[in-house]
Amino acid sequence: MRAWPAPDLPVLPVTAPPVRVHDTASGGLVETRPDGPARLYVCGITPYDATHMGHAATYVAFDLLHRAWRNAGHDVVYVQNVTDVDDPLFERAAKVGIDWRELAARETELFRQDMAALRILPPAHFPGAEESLHLIVDLIRRLQDVGVVYQVDDDLYFSVSADPAFGDESGWTRDEMLAVFADRGGDPDRAGKKDPLDCLVWRAERPGEPALDSALGRGRPGWHVECTAMALDLLGERFDVQGGGTDLIFPHHEMCASEAQVLTGAPYALAYVHAGMVAYDGAKMSKSKGNLVFVSALRNSDVDPMAIRLTVLRHHYRSDWEWTDDQLWASIDQLDRWRRALAVGAGAPAAPVVDAVLTALATDLDAPSAIAAVDAWADATLGSSGLADTSDPEAGASMRALLDAALGVAL
Ligand code: ZN
Repeated sequence: MRAWPAPDLPVLPVTAPPVRVHDTASGGLVETRPDGPARLYVCGITPYDATHMGHAATYVAFDLLHRAWRNAGHDVVYVQNVTDVDDPLFERAAKVGIDWRELAARETELFRQDMAALRILPPAHFPGAEESLHLIVDLIRRLQDVGVVYQVDDDLYFSVSADPAFGDESGWTRDEMLAVFADRGGDPDRAGKKDPLDCLVWRAERPGEPALDSALGRGRPGWHVECTAMALDLLGERFDVQGGGTDLIFPHHEMCASEAQVLTGAPYALAYVHAGMVAYDGAKMSKSKGNLVFVSALRNSDVDPMAIRLTVLRHHYRSDWEWTDDQLWASIDQLDRWRRALAVGAGAPAAPVVDAVLTALATDLDAPSAIAAVDAWADATLGSSGLADTSDPEAGASMRALLDAALGVAL
């Protein structure tokens, strides 16, 4: 699929430090060391509804990584998929009485507009599951060839016991896995499975359900194997970062990693990075609870998309946090203050702020610390803290470029 237009990315006069991120598998910070272009896969949307703030927070988080790598001098190959063959999409389309492909096309287009408004650098590849069906089916057949897929009725399952490293990505115990598997799309109780944790890779056609023609017959692929196939095809093994929300730690990323590892014998990704969840009205934002704040609804209310982005950036990407309108108003005030400081032209020296911001972002994408450094500069420039004794004639231009390149905040 086509992604969305790329925003301008100013080139900074200094090179940012190497990027370290928190890796779920090892439980600590790891330095990314791209061999050639940095390779990033972030799990994308199921296009059945508009982009809510939980989605926005995840894609802003990995946009910080994309920018940190670019500012450190790396090319980046970023892949984000679209899960355009999935149960929630079919259910929603049936409920509102439109064709599922039409619903997917409409919501994907709205997502593109939201991402562009938030100045998120687009992926180099934006594959849909349906258009990638041949790759996915090919991967399932390769898994069959090595004997790690078995049949239950007409469906196909991946045998998790085939991967000695199964469990290493999440670090979870079997009990922890079993506790959430059913709630996260798994079917631990299905009769005929060898292990309750085995995951579906192919669902044969059922009466009344959408199905696709393939070399495996009519049916549709499981969600995990879709991502595995697209990631291996577009990035290869041992790519730098697999990203997504913490709700994808298990089973999604665990299954993706295992399916790849039994075929390639190599690690799937070198780091697994997860963004926290966003709540609203006291609960995690979710379709089922109906407590969603949509990016497009805010944009339609003439909210500055940069204020939406800044509200996300005020929270460390790994923290869980709750959206409140007060935070949005505070971001609007903060942007106003930054704009006034930039308009001064000359101001407090920018070079130390550039270093502080780039270092903060290279240290596990610490946007709150970066924002604190910008605030201190704005205070000094506006004179309220009396530190503007050393005036930098280029400060405004330098800071404007920094805010855009590093934080994606264009003022
Ligand atoms: Zn995925």
